[in-house]
Amino acid sequence: MKPKIPFNKPFIVGKELYYISRAVLEGNLAGDGNFTKLCSGWMERHFEAKKVLLTTSCTSALEICAILADIQPGDEVIMPSYTFVSTANAFALRGAKIRFIDIRPDTLNMDENLIEAAITGKTKAIVPVHYAGVACEMDKILQIAKEQDLLVIEDAAQGVNATYKGRHLGTIGHLGAYSFHETKNFISGEGGALVINDERFIERAEIIREKGTNRSKFFRGELDKYTWVDIGSSYLPSEIIAAFLYAQLEEAEVITRKRWAIFNYYVKQFTPFQEHGLLRIPSWPMACRHNAHMFYIILPDGITRDNLLSYLNQQNINAVFHYVPLHSSTMGLQMGYKKGDFPVTEDLSARLIRIPCYFELKMEDQDRVFEAVTSFFANQRKFKKSARLNRTKKSGKNLEYYGRQI
Ligand SMILES: *Cc1c(COP(=O)(O)O)cnc(C)c1O
Repeated sequence: MKPKIPFNKPFIVGKELYYISRAVLEGNLAGDGNFTKLCSGWMERHFEAKKVLLTTSCTSALEICAILADIQPGDEVIMPSYTFVSTANAFALRGAKIRFIDIRPDTLNMDENLIEAAITGKTKAIVPVHYAGVACEMDKILQIAKEQDLLVIEDAAQGVNATYKGRHLGTIGHLGAYSFHETKNFISGEGGALVINDERFIERAEIIREKGTNRSKFFRGELDKYTWVDIGSSYLPSEIIAAFLYAQLEEAEVITRKRWAIFNYYVKQFTPFQEHGLLRIPSWPMACRHNAHMFYIILPDGITRDNLLSYLNQQNINAVFHYVPLHSSTMGLQMGYKKGDFPVTEDLSARLIRIPCYFELKMEDQDRVFEAVTSFFANQRKFKKSARLNRTKKSGKNLEYYGRQI
C-alpha cells in the first residue's frame, strides 16, 4: 500500500515556533499583546480594512457580527444553504430565522438573483459566503442591501487574501469574518478575525469581544477603570495563537503562490477530463482573483461521486465531500425546510469531491491523485461498456451517460 495522502496537513512556513517562544519570553500569553496587534495591523494594511480584530475562530467572529447586527428573535437573515454550519448557527444563536437560498451552478456561491424574493419586512442581513475563495457577486448584493437598508456580512472564512474587482474579500460588506483553522490557507490551528468596514461598529465590537467590558478603551488609557457595559463573550485568542499566525501572514504571498502552483497543476491535469465531459473543475468569474483555497471536482451523478470517493480512499488518498446542505440537516428540517427546496444545492452537493490541496502537497502526490482518478474512469468505462452491451441485448436501448452538461 502506498503511503497515505491526507486530505489536509497543517504546516509551518517560517518563524512560527520562534515567534511562539518570543511570546513566552515576553511574558504575555493572554490576548491583545504584541503579536495580536502585529496580525491585525498586517491585515488592516494588506487588505485595506478599516479595523481587524483577532478572534478565536471565524465562528466567533460571525457570532460578534450577529450581535452587532442587533439580531432579535424572529429577525431574518439570508444565506446559502450550501455552507458550513457556523454561517447559520451564529445567527440562530440570537434567535434569527435563517432564510436559505439556492446557489449558482457555476461558482456554487449564493445566487444573487434569488435574494430579493427572500426579503421580508423582518430581514436584517445578507450573508454571502465566498465559496472556495471565489467571490460572490458583490456589486449586485451591495446594491440590493443599499436599496433595502440591509447589512452585508461576508463569511470570508475561505476567502482570505482573495479579491473581487481588486478589493479583498471580507472588506467589501459592512462586516466580514476570516478563519485561520488548520484547514484554511493561513493557519493558527484554531483562529479567526472580524473585519469591520463600517466605523459605526468598531467601538461596540471591541466591547463584545472583551466579555462585554470596555477593557480595550481602558488599556488605551481612555478610561481609568473598566466595567461591564454590554453583552459579550471571550473572543480573544491567546498570544501563542497570534504568534503562530503572524509568521504565516508574513509569508502570505509565498503561501498563496505555492497554493496557486498546486491548483494550476490540478487544472492542467484535469482539463482533458473536463473536455471529455467526465467531470467539471472549478471556474471563477474574471472579476475574481481566487486564493486556491480548494480544488474540487464535480462528477456527472451522485453514484459516480460516491464510487470515486471510496475508490480514492481505497488507494489511500483522503478525498472528502461537503456540505450536507443546511436546509436538509436535522436542524434545517426542524426549521421547516424539506428536501427539494433548493435543487441546485442538492444536485451539486451530491456530485462534488474535494481532493487533497495543502501547502506541503508534492507534485508526485498530485500525480498519484490524478492517476487514481484516471484508473477509476478507465475501470468504469470497461464496466459501462459491458453494462451497455448487456442492456443493448436486453432492451435495445443505449445508456445515455457521457457527453451531457455536468
Ligand atoms: C471554516 C469555515 C467556517 C468556520 O471557521 P472556524 O474558524 O473553524 O470557526 C465558517 N464558514 C465557512 C464558509 C468555513 O469554510
